[in-house]
Amino acid sequence: MTTDELVALDREHLWHPFTQQRGWTQDEPPLVIDRASGTTLWDTEGNAYIDGVSSLWCNVHGHGHPALDEAVRSQLDRVAHSTMLGLTHQPAIELARRLVALAPPGLSRVFYSDNGSTAVEVALKMAFQWWQHRGARSRTGFVCLRDAYHGDTVGSVSVGGIDLFHSLYRPLLFDAWQVEPGDPDDLRRVLAEHGGRIAAVIVEPLVQGAAGMIIHPAGYLSAVRELCDEHGVLLICDEVATGFGRTGTMFACEQEDVAPDLLCVAKGLTGGYMPLAATLATERVYEGFLGEHQELKTFFHGHTYTGNPLACAAAIATLEVFEREATLERLSGKIELLGNWLDHLIAPLDAVAEVRRCGFMVGIRLADFPLPARMGHQVTLAARKRGAIVRPLGDVVVLMPPLSISEAELERLVSITAEAIVEATGRAALPAAA
Ligand code: PLP
Repeated sequence: MTTDELVALDREHLWHPFTQQRGWTQDEPPLVIDRASGTTLWDTEGNAYIDGVSSLWCNVHGHGHPALDEAVRSQLDRVAHSTMLGLTHQPAIELARRLVALAPPGLSRVFYSDNGSTAVEVALKMAFQWWQHRGARSRTGFVCLRDAYHGDTVGSVSVGGIDLFHSLYRPLLFDAWQVEPGDPDDLRRVLAEHGGRIAAVIVEPLVQGAAGMIIHPAGYLSAVRELCDEHGVLLICDEVATGFGRTGTMFACEQEDVAPDLLCVAKGLTGGYMPLAATLATERVYEGFLGEHQELKTFFHGHTYTGNPLACAAAIATLEVFEREATLERLSGKIELLGNWLDHLIAPLDAVAEVRRCGFMVGIRLADFPLPARMGHQVTLAARKRGAIVRPLGDVVVLMPPLSISEAELERLVSITAEAIVEATGRAALPAAA
C-alpha cells in the first residue's frame, strides 16, 4: 500500500488516543512509521527521525536492540501466551525474581498487568482491600497530588488531578483528597484531618510527568513517606514514567531512600517492546490477603494477558542489558551534557518560559501563547520537518529520548528543538543570550 492509501484508510477507520479526530483527518497528513533502529524511526517515505520521546516514554535501549529482539524471538519458539490464572511460566518467575532484587527494599511480591493504568488500578484495589481485611472499614479514601496523572482507567482517573483530562468524568469517579504537590504541610493537614479514612497516598516520585514535568523539591518524597508512616497510611509510588533509569537511577524512589508499600511500573519495563506492567507489594501487604478460600481474602483481579511470556522475556532482556551495557553508569555523563545543551540552546530562547528537567525527563514550557495557537503542537511539526519526533503536553514540549541515545544524537535533538521553537513561535533568542 502507498503512504497515501494508508493515510486514507487510517482516517476512515482509526480513532487515535488523546486526539481530536477532526484535526487528525483535516490537518497535515500523519507520518506512517515503517521501521526503527536504535534511536531512529523511519516513515514509509524513507524519512528518518530521532525518537525524541522514546515512543511515548517507554523505549530504553533503542529500537531493534539485538538482545531484546533475540529474547522475544526465542520465547516465541516456546510459547507466545499462557495464562497466569492457575498456571505459571519461567519468564514471569524469572522476571519477578529480578524485579524484587532491583526494587526498593521490602517489595517482595510482583503482580503483573498490561499497562501503567492497570498497574495503578491494582495498587489502589490492593490498598483498599488490605484495609478491609484488617477490619478498618472506614479506610476507603485516597490522597493524590494536584496535577497528578496515573492513567486513564476509571480508578486511575479518580486519583488524577489534571482537570483538562479528568474533570468531565467526575460523576463516574470515587472521591480523592488532592494536595498541593511539593508541600508536605498540605499533606500533613489532610492526614491529620482525615487520616482514619485514608487507605493510601499515591504519588509520582520526584517528577509529575504528564503534568508537564513538574519537579518536586528535594526531600518531598521522603517527607511523604514519613507522614504516611506517622498516620499508618500506605504509600503507593507510581514509577510508570520515572522507572527504569529515566531520572538517572533505576527507580526515582532510590534518590530519597524511599521504599513504598506498593510500587507501580510499566512503560520502560520491557524496554518499550511489549505491553507489560507490574505492581510490587511488600510482604506485609501480601500477607493481608492470605486466608482460607471461604474467607474470600483473595485478590479478585487479573487480566487475560497478565504476565504475557513474550513481554516478560523482553523485560528480562531489558534488565540484562542495563547490566551488560552499564546503561545507568553511561547515562550520567549524557544527563550532564543534556543539561548544558538545554542551558545554552533552549533556556535563552525568548519563547521559552522555563526548562524543567530531572535526569532524562525534560519539559520545555513555552511562554504565554493563546490556547488556539496550539504552539506546543506547532513546535512538534517544525521539529518533524527537521528530523525529530517530539510531543507536547499542551505548551510544554517534552524531550525524553531513549537512554541509549548517542551524545551526537542528543545534541542534534536539542538543536532541532531549539530551531523548531524559533520557527514555530517566530521569536528568536533573547538579545543578551544570543
Ligand atoms: N502513571 C504515570 C505516572 C504515567 O505517566 C502514565 C502514562 O503516561 C500512566 C500511569 C499510565 O500508563 P499507561 O499509558 O501505560 O496506561
